[in-house]
Amino acid sequence: MAEYSKTLHSAEHIFARALQNLGHEIHVRKADTDGPDKVGKAFIREILDLKAIEDAVSATNAEISKNLEITEHSFENLDSALKKFGKLRFNEERIDKETSVRVVKIGEFDYSACRHEHVKNTSEIGLFLVTRVKYLGGETEVEFIVGKTAEDYAIKQANTQLEIYAQTNSSLDKVNELVSSLKNKANENYGEVKALFEHLIKESKDNIFFIKNVKLSDKLDVMAKVIKENPYRCMALMNENQLFISKGPENKTNIPSIAAELKKRGVFTGSSDESHMSGKVTDAEAAISVLSVSIH
Ligand SMILES: [Zn+2]
Repeated sequence: MAEYSKTLHSAEHIFARALQNLGHEIHVRKADTDGPDKVGKAFIREILDLKAIEDAVSATNAEISKNLEITEHSFENLDSALKKFGKLRFNEERIDKETSVRVVKIGEFDYSACRHEHVKNTSEIGLFLVTRVKYLGGETEVEFIVGKTAEDYAIKQANTQLEIYAQTNSSLDKVNELVSSLKNKANENYGEVKALFEHLIKESKDNIFFIKNVKLSDKLDVMAKVIKENPYRCMALMNENQLFISKGPENKTNIPSIAAELKKRGVFTGSSDESHMSGKVTDAEAAISVLSVSIH
């Protein structure tokens, strides 16, 4: 085991115990501290909010800085280990209760059944940082780094933040507020863009709306709304590589035959029914030349 992996792995022991001490009943399903990218990963079966993780990061660093000794103790079986260390952490699913158990003890802070390699003292770990939290399939995946890697990361992060503060006239205490207000602003703008789009397609006499560089999937509800209000209309919405067609019940456009024609020309792949069509276009101009004579 590489030296860095040992420090990552030892830190993971402290972090798991810190979470437990904060009142979170956690179960680490898997911990990966041997990856080539110097990032440790812990897959925790429970959903942990960011506050819990942030508090545990602080607690972990507080323990690391106490220069705790890390020692190994062997026992004949789990029972005798539990007799000596009542607060023992062990993986219920993986441990063989009858065979010998090795307990890794970190000061008086953590006792854990583990066969991996560890550093001899927490002073070898250095700074502990969580760099990413992901929620996948009901689990919390926590990525973390230690030592010089963490120090370099912290410096880079602080410098990046400095640039953000300069650009936004913000500060560490105010940056969360700033992000919230930017998000609100973006939502407002997004609402305005949608309203504008609705007005455009409602008032226009055109049937084909070719809009370059615009995401279409979130405009489909607007198209559906306009069609619902105008059952005689058929509309095609497209960008460089996507095409959506929708029509009202009173419109006479033959959508299946449009789909067949585009497929025959090899410029469309996707699905269609009597009143809808959606898929990928490979040649927008060719598709438009077909649509312009077949949408009514
Ligand atoms: Zn271990």
